[in-house]
Amino acid sequence: MPHSLLDRTLDLLATLIAFDTRSSQSNLALIGFVRGHLAEHGVESTLVCDDTGKANLYATIGPADRPGLCLSGHTDVVPATGQPWKVPPFEMTRGVDRVFGRGTADMKGFVAAVLASVPRFVETVRDVPIHLAFSYDEEVGCRGVRGLIDRLATAPVKPLACVIGEPTRMQVAIAHKGKRAYRCCVKGLPGHSALTHLGVNAVDFAAELVTFLRRTANDLRTYGERDPEFDPPYTTVHTGTFNGGIALNVVPDSAQVEFEIRNLPAENPDAIVRSVRAYADNNLVTAMRETFDGSAVE
Ligand SMILES: [Zn+2]
Repeated sequence: MPHSLLDRTLDLLATLIAFDTRSSQSNLALIGFVRGHLAEHGVESTLVCDDTGKANLYATIGPADRPGLCLSGHTDVVPATGQPWKVPPFEMTRGVDRVFGRGTADMKGFVAAVLASVPRFVETVRDVPIHLAFSYDEEVGCRGVRGLIDRLATAPVKPLACVIGEPTRMQVAIAHKGKRAYRCCVKGLPGHSALTHLGVNAVDFAAELVTFLRRTANDLRTYGERDPEFDPPYTTVHTGTFNGGIALNVVPDSAQVEFEIRNLPAENPDAIVRSVRAYADNNLVTAMRETFDGSAVE
């Protein structure tokens, strides 16, 4: 058995990297391995699954009747296809002062370090337990962990605090900005472009909404909350996609805008969404309905 914690971590990391846990694949083989490793050290674990053929794993080391510190990581990785890898992505390759492989940093390295520490936790943990939480489908919208969060929400004992081993350049990051994503559909009235006054141009009104979002972003940057722990230190609003129209000589009756808000903890994203909604109702829908009653911004 390798002696140092680093050696044990690297051995475990090599095993974890070799499981192809791209978000499109099942993580059950990896979870089975982790479960076996924990069991070898006398640690029981619970799986929280849904119908995706994947599982979250939850375990407690030490007294289970009181809250402890949770160490959490995701087990899935992003794809490696079509990328210029110089080493096999699903194998661990040792370099001079680092190792290479898909997920080495994000975030099987952390999971391996936690697993390598399990014997020490088992030996030393007395009053405050350590919880382990390993999730799936993080890279595709943090979908997998939701079942586990639901389970913990109703559990008699919840963790006191949680350390997530996401790569942050070895700096402590105390929080992540909040994120809200929206798709906005503007519905107008089609017509021939020679008779624009008879139609309701959805692209025109969607553009006004995009401009309002841009103004909101500027206002938040200038007057909103600030927190130097975040980069940038203010809440951001951004339009990511804008689609509409089918031909130059047709007044477009439909346009879609996707936008997002990434808010500081102190900023209320509901208030921002309410102001967007109010702008759409009071400034856009009212004007559109002067021509066509069925106009809408949804
Ligand atoms: Zn990650």
